[in-house]
Amino acid sequence: MHRSNLTILLISLWFAGSILGMEPKCSYCNKSIEGNYLTADGKSYHENCYRDHIQPRCEHCGKLIDGKYAILDDKMYHPQCYTNHILPKCVICDQPLQGKYYTDYWGNSFHGSHSSELPECSTCGRLICEELTRGGFELGDGRFLCGICNETEVSGDFLLESSSSYVRRLLESNGITNLPVDIPITLVDQERLKQLASSYSDAMHGFTDHNMQTRNGRVVSKDSHIYIVSHLPLTMFRAILAHELMHVYLFERDLDLRSDIREGFCNLGSEMVYKDTPSEYAKFRLLNMEKSQDPDYGYGYRKISQLLDRRGWRYLLETLNEID
Ligand SMILES: [Zn+2]
Ligand SMILES: [Zn+2]
Ligand SMILES: [Zn+2]
Ligand SMILES: [Zn+2]
Ligand SMILES: [Zn+2]
Repeated sequence: MHRSNLTILLISLWFAGSILGMEPKCSYCNKSIEGNYLTADGKSYHENCYRDHIQPRCEHCGKLIDGKYAILDDKMYHPQCYTNHILPKCVICDQPLQGKYYTDYWGNSFHGSHSSELPECSTCGRLICEELTRGGFELGDGRFLCGICNETEVSGDFLLESSSSYVRRLLESNGITNLPVDIPITLVDQERLKQLASSYSDAMHGFTDHNMQTRNGRVVSKDSHIYIVSHLPLTMFRAILAHELMHVYLFERDLDLRSDIREGFCNLGSEMVYKDTPSEYAKFRLLNMEKSQDPDYGYGYRKISQLLDRRGWRYLLETLNEID
């Protein structure tokens, strides 16, 4: 929330006749004044001296300021010039931003009223409109996707394989190894994800279903199936895939962790992808995780991330069982 710095002041000017026998001196040219003169700030001036040298001019149009003016950074403006040319404009309606206004993560400033009129993109937080996002879409499951995020959205199979090998390489570089080779990935809408996950959180964008086959009390096979919400921008899709593959890692090692430690650990996969992606969007998504108030995806993540920063991957992977 910002407030534009507009101050309206009044210049005090007085016209006065010269008083007999007390001819004042002009504070500009230092010569005595005959006839009418002007006073400003307790000093006297010839009318011409005042107008040509003392009277303030508008920084925008260069013309004299008479009466009300606005001031910004010690510069003076006609109120009209200030409103129309100096005040920042709303990126949505192009009207000056007077009074309270918002600036989003992406540096777009707009009137607060627009945020109640326009839907927000579910992945980048921008208000969806032609001016900011080149439009956008309602996905039909309660989510909105803006035109910018839509450019890289993952809704078909063609990106799954390349994303999968990229994410696996990244995880392996930190010791998350020996993941099963063929893990099916299915794109679903948010409604389906809610049905699949026994405990659903808004911070959730994927779910991994684990199955274990036992015979005579012995595990004979394990398999996992990853579900990810469709239409995520590629960067976020990869981050969610990394998170879900971390679940597979835990499952393969029979690590049954408390929810905050489990989700916090799996979010390190997302963190890896965001830190590996040099884009403003990746920074935005990482910030989102860092600020999340979710007990598992937010607090849990920060706890495990701090532990990782202090002790490193090797220690973390070896002691996952003992974290409290
Ligand atoms: Zn003078
Ligand atoms: Zn002006
Ligand atoms: Zn506006
Ligand atoms: Zn977006
Ligand atoms: Zn998870």
